[in-house]
Amino acid sequence: MSGHHDATLVVASIIIAVVTAYAALALAARVTAARGRFRLAWLLAGSVAMGLGIWSMHFVGMLSFSVGVPMAYAVPTVLLSALVPILASALALFVVSRDRVSNATVAVAALPMGLAIAGMHVIGMMALRVHARVTHDPRLVAAAVAIAIGASAAALWLSIRFRRDDPSRGGSRQLVAALVLGFAIAGMHYTAMAGARFSPIPTTPGTLAVAPEAVLRTDGLAWAIAVATLLLLALVVYGSVVDRRTAARSAETEALRRSEDRFRSLVLASAQIVWTTNAEGQIDAAQPEWETFTGARFDGYRGWGWLNSLHPDDRDGAAALWRAALESRTVCEAEYRVRRHDGEYRVMQSRSVPVMEPGGRIREWVGAVTDVTESRKEERATAFLAQVGEVLASSLDYEETLARVARLAVPALADWCAVDLLADGGMQRVAVEHEDPAKVDFVRALEERYPSRQDAEHGMYYVIRTGRPDMMSNIPDELLETAAFDAEHRALLRTLGLRSYIAVPLVAREKTLGAITLVHAESGRRYDERDLRLAQELARRAAIAIDNARLFHETEEARAQLEQQAGELEEAQAEMEMAHDELQHANEELVQRTADAERARQAADEANAAKSAFLATMSHELRTPLNAIAGYAQLLEMGIHGEVNDTQREYLEKIRRNQMHLLGLINDVLNFAKIEAGQVQYEIADVPVDEMLASVEALIEPQLKARQHAYTYRRGDARVQARADRDRVEQIVLNLLGNAVKFTSPGGAIVMEWETGERVVRIRVRDNGRGIPHEKLPAIFEPFVQVDPALTRSSEGTGLGLAISRDLARAMKGDLTVESQEGVGSTFTLTLPRGRDGAQREADEQRVA
Ligand code: ADP
Repeated sequence: MSGHHDATLVVASIIIAVVTAYAALALAARVTAARGRFRLAWLLAGSVAMGLGIWSMHFVGMLSFSVGVPMAYAVPTVLLSALVPILASALALFVVSRDRVSNATVAVAALPMGLAIAGMHVIGMMALRVHARVTHDPRLVAAAVAIAIGASAAALWLSIRFRRDDPSRGGSRQLVAALVLGFAIAGMHYTAMAGARFSPIPTTPGTLAVAPEAVLRTDGLAWAIAVATLLLLALVVYGSVVDRRTAARSAETEALRRSEDRFRSLVLASAQIVWTTNAEGQIDAAQPEWETFTGARFDGYRGWGWLNSLHPDDRDGAAALWRAALESRTVCEAEYRVRRHDGEYRVMQSRSVPVMEPGGRIREWVGAVTDVTESRKEERATAFLAQVGEVLASSLDYEETLARVARLAVPALADWCAVDLLADGGMQRVAVEHEDPAKVDFVRALEERYPSRQDAEHGMYYVIRTGRPDMMSNIPDELLETAAFDAEHRALLRTLGLRSYIAVPLVAREKTLGAITLVHAESGRRYDERDLRLAQELARRAAIAIDNARLFHETEEARAQLEQQAGELEEAQAEMEMAHDELQHANEELVQRTADAERARQAADEANAAKSAFLATMSHELRTPLNAIAGYAQLLEMGIHGEVNDTQREYLEKIRRNQMHLLGLINDVLNFAKIEAGQVQYEIADVPVDEMLASVEALIEPQLKARQHAYTYRRGDARVQARADRDRVEQIVLNLLGNAVKFTSPGGAIVMEWETGERVVRIRVRDNGRGIPHEKLPAIFEPFVQVDPALTRSSEGTGLGLAISRDLARAMKGDLTVESQEGVGSTFTLTLPRGRDGAQREADEQRVA
């Protein structure tokens, strides 16, 4: 016997299955989205709704079935069959709401779920009270279980797939999924039912023993359950939709709040202050960032009060810009100085925009204010360095360019700027700059009166000494105390109001060239590390420029010097060439002249020889008659041929004297001629000087006596020898002694002495006679020269004696010289080479020893 199904109830059960599936998907999404207590609540409520949905699909399916005999269901068992899908749903919702669900989890969870649903069916069958034996087709039962597990897996997978989907987009897909799933669940139920066979047990027909706790199968019951379930499911779906909407809205609000935070942080990250005003541009609410930055209170900056925190010079400009922006309803951009809470003015850049309402009305103004002090400084520094670079490159006159750099530095970088260079061991102030020329003069005068101490611990001299920069952000009063020379100096320094300074060395190629000093005074500015870096960069560039200029000048100078030297060299060469030409010319002339001279000399020699020969012949020829004259005069004087009276005797005497004179004259001339003609032979030998000179005395003695002269000979070392011809030396000495006798008045003093030098012997003849006038001295050695011919005639001279004597002396490698003073006396010195004598050998030995 097989039963039949009520078609409308079957459709109702399928609708329940589909709605349940749809509700399950919605619930999965809610449970996943909810957190904490809400999640648990959704899990519990969802499990009950879903479980009841599955159960009621099953139970309505059961109620749609009839086998022609009365059927009833045991209520407790039915209730138990409802509990099982609730638990299975709880498991399913728990699994899908996990943050991460792997396919393995889905597979593992699908098995108990499918079994639970199958279990629900089995329990449901157990609740059936009917007078029939129920058997099952095992293949269909297995298929039903498989479908249950498969449907569970599909349900889980789909729930996971759609749990996070935006419902507005995924609605239709979820519907399709719900349809598939619903039909699958229903399919499982009806497959299982198809596998059930009912064999009626014959009992009393028309009666059914129904237990008191059992309910009868009626269509009314089925419809009641179906409607109740659908209502419940609709309620759940509606709840989930409402919840989703609410959640979405609160999420939107949260996102909006976050977004605002994010934008505010974003603006604050680049700007120090964000502020808002009302539509009229008046501040009407507290501005926390403005307060933090300026330290001002709300009362102070409300309305237009914020202007009070601006630098007095910037207030009017800022107010005008703001007013203009309010009028034109456009973006307001401004830059002004704002006094920070610590009193320092900071350069701030502000940008304010109107916030419009949809109608075009301004709702409020929003502004961002950024501290651009540092970047403005950086910009100024860059611009300043660029200008400095231009100035330094403009000229090689570095003193001029440094003065211009100092002018650039004021007031951009300092109230005062001084540049000093090391020059010749001292310092040279190349520039002092201040906006007020009177102050510059004042400082120059001050420095002149109180020059800086070279051993100062701070400032320019310290920097030059150490090569290290020096900065003082805040010049303390004690520094002025120690720097000042006296009270007046201190007072004068105070009037300058120096606040802060930087001194940096000018260093190029590791050599300190000077220093740049920057000082802040009346502006009240203070130097910081950034300024120091800028000053150092300035000094570095200036030093390079100085060094380059100096190198250039040096090179130029060297080049000019080289050029000059080259020019001089060229000139010298030209001169030399000229001199060379002249020399060559002179040489040629000289050669010519030498040849001429040689010819002249030869001619002269020939003439001389002829003269000498003539003189020699003449002298000889003259001597013969003279001797005859003398002989005959003597015969007459002897009176052999008759007595001669006194007058005759006197005449004879004169004849004899003149004959003698003439003879002497002739002898002298002959001698001189011989010497001049080189015909004299010298027998040079070592002559013992002392012995030779001593022997001369005897020869001169008669003349000395006749004139009653006192004669002294001062003897010397007997061993000393002279290298000479003894006869010639005697001739010279006799001549000298004869002159001394002749030219000294009777009763005079004549001295002969000698001395030895290392290589020479000097023999001196001294008298205290009338001497020789100074101007005549050189002439007396010339032949035939007599100082006073008249006088000499009476003294019987020829003027040849000294000429002959000097010729002889020189021929023996000696000399004859004179010293004389008129009226006092004369000294003649005969110098002769010294011979190898005992005295000299001794002296040599002593020297060696
Ligand atoms: P002489 O004696 O024959 O005149 P010398 O040649 O010996 O010629 O001397 C030249 C001149 O030098 C002399 O005439 C004389 O005027 C001067 N003279 C030479 N010796 C002396 C002397 N000892 N004192 C002064 N005058 C002298």
